[in-house]
Amino acid sequence: MSADRRRNQLIETLRRQGIRDERVLTAVAATAREAFVEPAFADQAYADRALPIACGQTISQPYIVALMTEALRVEPANRVLEIGTGSGYQCAVLSRLCPHVYTVERFRTLAESARERFQTAGLLNITQKVGDGSLGFPEHEPYDRIMVTAAAREVPETLLAQLSPRGIMVLPIEERPGKQDLWRLRKDERGIEREHLIPVRFVPLVDGLPGDR
Ligand code: SAH
Repeated sequence: MSADRRRNQLIETLRRQGIRDERVLTAVAATAREAFVEPAFADQAYADRALPIACGQTISQPYIVALMTEALRVEPANRVLEIGTGSGYQCAVLSRLCPHVYTVERFRTLAESARERFQTAGLLNITQKVGDGSLGFPEHEPYDRIMVTAAAREVPETLLAQLSPRGIMVLPIEERPGKQDLWRLRKDERGIEREHLIPVRFVPLVDGLPGDR
């Protein structure tokens, strides 16, 4: 079956799973996931499952990518920050919904492979940084939307500080070992409103850069 057909089937699966936002579905449909997975897993690029990538990390399951993207409620003029570039797939989907995405990854190897994929896909509205994403991307703050794709023990305060007034952040939090949940936070005049979404499983958000310790 061609990649186009498999991608269309994935969109139908996502609809059945409850993804409703047509802009999100269009962004997923426009993004060739096979270009973001390791060649050995190319035949599984459109299966609805997470897959291993380099440096012991994973590319998220398409359903989780779609759900998190929908939950982020990206508006056409928003500046978006993603923490945990990984393969670059989630970032590529986000880049189709807004003028510019900023993304931070702690592994240089992953950041460089993602950069090549963005170039090949003609995605020119992405700015990358190799660094500790717990510290955000202070050079370009504030951000209207922040998505974290690795699980922290608690909400990183530095990221909250880089979120615009009325901004939205979607992130997995691991309250205790083995218990991770996806949360949506909204910043308003009164403070931070937290909304529980679903239980999830992400790789951990790790402080510092590889080789630091
Ligand atoms: N969004 C990615 C998911 C990758 S998995 C995708 O679509 O493929 C999560 C990523 O977060 C991993 O690549 C991991 O290296 C990265 N990560 C973990 N802790 C980090 C940190 N403190 N700063 C930046 N990236 C981090």
